[in-house]
Amino acid sequence: MNFNITLLPGDGIGPEIIAETVTVLETIAGKYGHTFNFTELLMGGCSIDKYGSSLTDETLADCQSADAVLLGAVGGPKWDDPKAKDRPERGLLALRKGLGVFANLRPVKVHPALVDSSPLKPEKLQGVDILVIRELTGGLYFGWPKGRDVKDGRERAVDTLEYYDYEIRRVMELAFSLAKGRKKKVTSVDKANVLESSRLWRQIAVQVGAENPDIELEHTLVDTASMRLITGPAWMDVIVTENMFGDILTDEASVLAGSMGMLPSASLGAGKNGLYEPIHGSAPDIAGKGIANPIGTILSSAMMLRHSFGLETEAAAIENAVDATITAGARTADLGGMLTTKQMTAEIINKL
Ligand code: NAD
Repeated sequence: MNFNITLLPGDGIGPEIIAETVTVLETIAGKYGHTFNFTELLMGGCSIDKYGSSLTDETLADCQSADAVLLGAVGGPKWDDPKAKDRPERGLLALRKGLGVFANLRPVKVHPALVDSSPLKPEKLQGVDILVIRELTGGLYFGWPKGRDVKDGRERAVDTLEYYDYEIRRVMELAFSLAKGRKKKVTSVDKANVLESSRLWRQIAVQVGAENPDIELEHTLVDTASMRLITGPAWMDVIVTENMFGDILTDEASVLAGSMGMLPSASLGAGKNGLYEPIHGSAPDIAGKGIANPIGTILSSAMMLRHSFGLETEAAAIENAVDATITAGARTADLGGMLTTKQMTAEIINKL
């Protein structure tokens, strides 16, 4: 089969981990008889430097027409000026919105060989296998009005947390459909005791729950959920939540896996075209050293094969190769080892 993939390496360690992931995908293409056509474009800080915009119209159009988009990471101290007209993160939000990817899937599994890399006690990590689904194109990050002004002689800042019923329903339906292939349990996270938007969230969760009687639905307040992720994570399976709560909870959940560098994500919309990226940022502290862990990005490419291309066998081959590599003791610096990005990738390719 033939697929067009747009690569957005971005900033910091982004280009290092994307280049390695391409070698994994080329190995898969050769082994299973597929053709992956790669188009590499600028996005984020590097695009601001070259074009004066974190995401140009041309780049967005290319991403929209591709079969999938694979992103490294964007941002860094060079583009951190809060007064700047454009920032790398704006490009990322515009890309998500432009692709219509309303749900971000972040699987968090703890590899048995890595329990010692996590700050949690090993017994708390037994059997942890969570899928967090974060609403991605609504809520506080997109609501209007937002901005700063001076009111009654005081400097003021405003953000708006807004949700429409259809935005909640489509992500909730996705959560229930993915729960069917797992433990048949959905935990909906909200703040319904305080926020009006959360009361609508819970109302829709109950409606979708009634349409899926084979799935157990529970509601948890976000403060309780953040506590339970640390005190009893094995008890959770599919978690579905709004944009900002998901942003925070997924970073918290990443601690369970031992390193941010291990975790992949997929952002999906109504069509097949998805956006795939590791959950970590551009890691400016280690950029250019060749020591970044490529696994989060390599596993994101496996999610791309599964969700956008329907290549389940090939996706599982990558995941099994990563599993076997970790089991065999291969470790980059974030996991307490000495392997470079290239050496870790070579170990994974050897096991494909
Ligand atoms: P970060 O995720 O880049 O780094 C946090 C820590 O984890 C650092 O010590 C880093 O070295 C380490 N780390 C991250 N990925 C790693 C990997 N693959 N291998 C080994 N170690 C890894 O978060 P930050 O430092 O808060 O942010 C840095 C920049 O990234 C900021 O500009 C931020 O805005 C941006 N950012 C971008 C994204 C994205 O592109 N989706 C996400 C988060 C942060």
